[in-house]
Formats: sequence, C-alpha cells, structure tokens
Amino acid sequence: MSGSVSGLEGVWRDVLIMARREFGDKAVEQWLGQVSLVGLSQDLATLVAPTRFLADWIERNFGQALVRMLGHAEPEVRRIQVVVQDRVLRAPIRLPEPAMVAPSAPAVPAPLPETDRVLNSAPLDPRFTFDSFVVGKPNELAHAAARRVADCPDASFNPVFLHGGVGLGKTHLMHAIASHLQATRPGVKVLYLSAEQFMYRFIQALRFRDTLSFKEEFRSVDVLMVDDVQFIAGKDSTQEEFFHTFNALIDQKKQIVISGDSSPDRIEGIEERIRSRLQWGLVVDIHPADYELRLGILHSKAERIMATHPEIVLDPKVLEMLAHRINSNVRVLEGALTRLVAFASLVGRRIDLDMAMECLADLLRAAERKVTIDEIKRRVADHYNLRLSDLVSARRARAVARPRQVAMYLAKTLTSKSLPEIGRGFGGRDHTTVIHAVKKIESLRESDGQLSEDVELLRRMLEG
Ligand code: ADP
Ligand code: MG
Repeated sequence: MSGSVSGLEGVWRDVLIMARREFGDKAVEQWLGQVSLVGLSQDLATLVAPTRFLADWIERNFGQALVRMLGHAEPEVRRIQVVVQDRVLRAPIRLPEPAMVAPSAPAVPAPLPETDRVLNSAPLDPRFTFDSFVVGKPNELAHAAARRVADCPDASFNPVFLHGGVGLGKTHLMHAIASHLQATRPGVKVLYLSAEQFMYRFIQALRFRDTLSFKEEFRSVDVLMVDDVQFIAGKDSTQEEFFHTFNALIDQKKQIVISGDSSPDRIEGIEERIRSRLQWGLVVDIHPADYELRLGILHSKAERIMATHPEIVLDPKVLEMLAHRINSNVRVLEGALTRLVAFASLVGRRIDLDMAMECLADLLRAAERKVTIDEIKRRVADHYNLRLSDLVSARRARAVARPRQVAMYLAKTLTSKSLPEIGRGFGGRDHTTVIHAVKKIESLRESDGQLSEDVELLRRMLEG
C-alpha cells in the first residue's frame, strides 16, 4: 500500500476526480474538498476534517461512496474513519500508523494518554504560536490582549473575549496563549477547550453521574480558555453549567479567555446573564485581514515552506496576486498556498503567476463572486433606512453622508474596483472624495463602536 506523502495525496486526488464526476463540482468543493486523506492502514482509510459537523456529514453521506472510490486505488480499503482535526472528544481512535501519515497533511495530534484526555486540555496545535502569528492593524489589539494574558494571567482583564469571523486567527491566538503558559509557568493549570468539548464533558458527567468531579476539575484551573462559545447557544443546561463555572472562577480571580464568532451582544440564543458576563472584561475583535496583513501572512508562510522545501521556488508576484485576490479569510489563503506547493512538488514546476492562476482557478473564481457596488449600495441603504437615490445624490446631511461614506469604504475594501470607478458609482464623485471617505471610516472604526459594528455587520452580509 502506498503510504508516502505523494502516495496519499495522489490517491486522494484520484478520489476527488471520481467524486467530481459522480457528485459534481459543487459538492466536492463544499464537502470533500475540505478533507484530506492522512492514512491508509490495512483496510482502514483515515480522513481528517476541520470540524465535527463536517466529519459526521461526510461519514454519513459520502462514506460508502468513498470506500468504493478509495477501493479503486487501494483494493484493501473496506472502511473509512473521518477524524476531526481537534478531536479530543472522539474517545478511542485508531490513528493511522506513523509511517502512513503524510507530514504535509493537517496535523492529527498524537493520542493523549487516557488520564490526560479526561483531565486536561484539548491538544494544542504546535504550529499555533505567537512566533508564527503575523500582527497587523486588523488583529493588533487581539494580539496585544492575548500576549498580555500569556505573559501575566493575573485576571486584571477578566474575561478576555476575542471575537471575529471564521479563519481570522482566534484559535491560533488561544493556542498560543496556552502553549506559552505551559512553557513558561508549568505550575499554572491551563485548561483549553472548545465550547463543544465543554458541553460534551458536561453531558458525559451527567450521564455517569459524576458532575461533582466535573465541577471540581473545572473549578481547580488557573486559566480557563473556551473556544467558539457561540456553540453553547440554545443549549440550556450547558449554559447553566457554563455560567456557574464562569462565576466561580471569576470569584477566585482566575483568568478566563473566551472566543466567539461575534461580539457578545450579537451571539444569538445565549442567556442574558451570560451575555452580560461576557461583556464584563475586555472585549476585542479581530478584523478581517487587509491587503498588507494578507501579504505579510503569505510571506511568513512561504518563508517557512521554503526553509523546509528548498526545491520550492515561489515567485513573490504570486504572493501579491493571492493577497490581492483572496480576501475571504486566512484559512482560505493558507489553503491556496498549500495547494500551490503540493502541485508544484508533484509536477516539479516553479510556481509562477501562470501556474498559480491555473492551479487555483476555482478558488480565484469563487473569490471573484464578489460583491458589486450596486449590492453594497442596496444593503447600506436598507441598513440605514435610506433610498438608493440618497446614496448617489449630492446631499451632504450627516444622515446621508455618513452611510454614503460607509458604502464607499465597503466598495473599496470588498471589491477590486478602482477609486475613480467607485466615485462614478456614487453619483460621479471624484476619486479624492472616495479616499476621504475611506480614511474617515477607517478612523471612525477605531473610535465609534456603533459604526464599527454596522460596518462589520454589512461586510458579513455582503460576503456571506
Ligand atoms: P478561527 O479560529 O478564527 O476560525 P484560526 O485560528 O483557526 O481561525 O485560523 C485559521 C488559520 O489561519 C490557521 O491556520 C492560522 O494559523 C492562520 N492564521 C490566522 N491569522 C493568522 C495570522 N495573523 N498569522 C499567521 N497565521 C494566521
Ligand atoms: Mg477557531
């Protein structure tokens, strides 16, 4: 059986080709494209998925087909398992044999000893450190808050609540805090887990009538970190328990760090009292990466890749093109780079602009499904209860002028239109007016919470 890197990648590529034929491009992009094959061992193929939801979905809906398709390449395969990248929950897992694990595939953390699994943190991704985190304007506050907690978890800001859209680095920062604390303060008990894992442990405790030790465990930590808190929305008894754990720790001045996909007041389905607790401390958001940060991240990743793969040659123009064209989130950006590198090493070609465009055609097209100026105007007008014509009119009243600036700002940041094109889209305004609007909104985003939330909400609606 082929266990080498290119072996696994090759097998998976063939499966994806078959899957495209059978299920269509859409299904492959949406589901299977997010998964990779990390192990083949006897009759078992191991895939890794980024979330439990995806893992379950794939197992349920594509399981049989995948076994069949994998069987074309590897006749011994009879079963698949889809593991979650961050899968402390999935009790006994047969991990692929080490030799079969593709080093370039997403890391499958080594299995923890049974006792650790019960008592300790979810596994930390060793790649998610402060060293590998690139800081730019959109994330500097979140980074500073994370550093502060990592250097000095004295609960002077409690809780620290990090929020932002998917793939912007929340989990990365949380892991960085936890790893740093583990390395520098071995005596400090750090518990990092996702809200999903919190719930799972709580339910297990209920099932085994062991809530007492659950409570003891959680209340004995010095630093509690809960990732993706929005997951507990709507789950009443988990919320109840979370609330009590939270209060107990705050009372003891223990540091708490929480992440969520939006600000506390916008997470739906959580109790008021939890919402207000989450707002007690320091709430910081991570904004979507701007061009500079995207480029910085790409440079940093590319350097790391080239340091370990001297045969890979990446044209800097390619990085600029990616930073320019892919603006959804950092995870997608990384995925693009990974795919390029895999492709380059398979076909042994230098990564230049043409090759990149060809290899990433589908991604670039998807990124292209971009927001139009018209859509932006429509959304902004709706949001502020204005008429579309107000946005292109010459009126200068604040009630109209501000939303117009917001719309121009969104046009500049969400589309690849030039300043003069944007000016034309807003009643033939001069490009300097657009620059002024962009600067104005940028600075207001720092000082005006309401406006900053409006902009963020609009951006999400437009991009989603
Ligand atoms: P989130 O938890 O916000 O959805 P993650 O922390 O999982 O996002 O980040 C997604 C990917 O992007 C990770 O591989 C992470 O390392 C990378 N990433 C995000 N922001 C940065 C950054 N500023 N510097 C380097 N890598 C980053
Ligand atoms: Mg995350």
